Amino acid sequence: MPANETRTYASVALNVPLDSLFDYRIPEPLRDEIEIGARVRVPFGRREMVGYCVGFPAAPGIAVERVKDLHQLLDRPALLDERMLKLTRWMASYYCCSWGEALDAVLPAGVKKRQAARTVLMVAALHEAPALRRAADELRERAPRQARTLTALAATHGEIAAGDLLDLAEADHSVLAALERDGWLKLRRQRQANDPSLEFRVDHSDPPPLTADQRKVLDRIGAAFDRGGFHVALLHGVTGSGKTEVYLQALDRVVRGGRQGIVLVPEIALTPQTVARFRGRFDRVCVLHSELTESARRDQWRAIRAGEADVVIGARSAVFAPVPKLGLLIVDEEHETTFKQANAPRYHGRDAGIWRARQEGALVLLGSATPSLESLHNARSGKYELLELPRRVGGRPLPPVEILDLSQHIEKGRSPLLSRRLRIGIETALAKGEQVILFLNRRGYNTHVHCPRCGFALKCEHCSVSLIFHRAAAATRCHYCGAQAEPPKVCPGCNLPNVKYVGSGTERVEEEIAKVFGAGAVARMDRDAMQGVGKYQETLDDFRDGKTKILLGTQMVAKGLDFPNVTLVGVINADVSLNLPDFRASERTFQLLAQVAGRAGRGDRGGRVIVQTWSPDHPCINEVVGHDYASFARRELEERRRCGYPPFTRLARLLYEGKKPEAVQSACTAAVDAIKSACAEVRVLGPALAPIERIKGLTRWHALLKAPDSARLHKVLSAVDRRKQAGVELTIDVDPVAML
Ligand code: ADP
Ligand code: ZN
Repeated sequence: MPANETRTYASVALNVPLDSLFDYRIPEPLRDEIEIGARVRVPFGRREMVGYCVGFPAAPGIAVERVKDLHQLLDRPALLDERMLKLTRWMASYYCCSWGEALDAVLPAGVKKRQAARTVLMVAALHEAPALRRAADELRERAPRQARTLTALAATHGEIAAGDLLDLAEADHSVLAALERDGWLKLRRQRQANDPSLEFRVDHSDPPPLTADQRKVLDRIGAAFDRGGFHVALLHGVTGSGKTEVYLQALDRVVRGGRQGIVLVPEIALTPQTVARFRGRFDRVCVLHSELTESARRDQWRAIRAGEADVVIGARSAVFAPVPKLGLLIVDEEHETTFKQANAPRYHGRDAGIWRARQEGALVLLGSATPSLESLHNARSGKYELLELPRRVGGRPLPPVEILDLSQHIEKGRSPLLSRRLRIGIETALAKGEQVILFLNRRGYNTHVHCPRCGFALKCEHCSVSLIFHRAAAATRCHYCGAQAEPPKVCPGCNLPNVKYVGSGTERVEEEIAKVFGAGAVARMDRDAMQGVGKYQETLDDFRDGKTKILLGTQMVAKGLDFPNVTLVGVINADVSLNLPDFRASERTFQLLAQVAGRAGRGDRGGRVIVQTWSPDHPCINEVVGHDYASFARRELEERRRCGYPPFTRLARLLYEGKKPEAVQSACTAAVDAIKSACAEVRVLGPALAPIERIKGLTRWHALLKAPDSARLHKVLSAVDRRKQAGVELTIDVDPVAML
């Protein structure tokens, strides 16, 4: 610390939704030790909280006599560096949260808990076995537990874990202390390795000779490296065009240059294949996996910070990985909405990553077969470089997509789940020893329970949504609040036994498929079926090994899977996401269908896709048939421009929630009135009831702000009153991806 700097006070950011920082007096002994970015324990109201020291003001922001002492310094040295402080401060201002909330998102829970590194106590004998046995004989009467312990120890070779030894001897820890004191054994703490439950597969592969397209793309990336500094490229490559290979080779170059790479994937648990490919090419890969225990994550985090990882792979929050020298940030499937965090800080991993890369002079590579319209727009306007892989590797064609009109089909009185064409398609594929992926983006067995006689429809008590019937759980469930109830046998409205269960989810389709092709042939992959560590890997391994022939699931089966033996992809009902009240419904549908269609025909046997739909004439469906991203983008951009939606405007959503409907409505209305008079260039949609009017018993009103640019959006947002009033809570979502 420079001698002239006085550290009497610390400014502390707390994880509370309040804009201000809080000043504390630093106790004398800590003044030489505390650093910016360190966590401190401070009194706050009547509680104690952990916060982050973000500055040393010369004078406190409140009267000196009211300043309290901070209680404890938790990190020496500080966990967060200047880079993370800057990034989080930007996040706080851009995403309208407090600095403390943003800071708290950066550190994994295991790091914050500051547990001692996970260790096991090992016991080593200090004498040969015969001497131990003689000692045991002498102790038998006086100290039987010590005697049993020495006997057990004599039977082991070398070291044994203390827990195991005590189990064998039926003794407790006090015995070990006594025996150590008397010089019979030695105790030693040993650091335990990472979770043994999470052994990832490694797919070793040598870099293949590149295709001409890949070569061109990598040359351009190489040129950007040579120029040095911050740069963003959008890699638009059709499914199976070899994007992952481009990532691998670009990373190789970064690593050889002594820098590190971060790879963001939409959901780490869903991408074991991708992870295996990275592990096969690089020795020092850290995977920030959601199934890791806290202590394992902490170990990873430390290794990353120490520069022991060349490549870090993880979901959204891996963007905060403390690599010492970021060279390349890759965002795979950059269009995915899972990169946006649903609670504060509501940051987008891609956008936070681009901000970070700019600060650190790194390269960013955004990859997708169906880029978000925001990124496409940025590429076309010259903000990003556009790189393209328009063909599949090895000259493989994109699979032909056939549309099956469900309305035609239902007239013939058949089940709309499995059309004749799809069933025959599956039969044919299986007969040839090939495999099938089926997609339906709806969980559960039946999606609606209603009474045709009195019109009753079963809804959640707390939320304005239908309850979903889950057959395996023998319950109806709310997918928003988790409430669970017994499925009614008689109509709760009219008490007559004619209640109907309709609308099919994955569970129902699985049953139907099992009926036709046998239960052993099909595996279901959705959030309900994938409970438990390692379940994805197991399901995917079984499918890869051919133990299961048909993989059925929600969007979990749409992403990233590369199974060359899959020759048929079936979409059970393409309309699920098409009619959502969201201006991105069409974009989502196109992306999902293009993604899932891309799972077919990745091997030499070719492939086809059958899409069942009630809306065969929807332009989006036709663009999927033609693998026509260009037409889709043209039409959709046109629409967005006409209606003033992104990428032509910047959005923020204000969501007001509270128990009293009138109070919520008036809070939302008052805010909208204030905004309208504050800035004429910002258009406001609303106030209106949110599409889901009630969740967890809270009434929801919202308004959507459309601004010509981010500066004007934030000018308006800074004027919005964020205090909780009359039991109404405000959520500000900047660049929202959820409109419900
Ligand atoms: P994407 O990520 O665009 O879907 P991948 O990188 O997974 O594409 O490539 C699709 C398949 O082609 C993979 O099985 C991959 O191993 C293979 N592949 C990629 N590049 C090459 C290449 N240059 N030569 C041969 N095979 C390749
Ligand atoms: Zn509910």
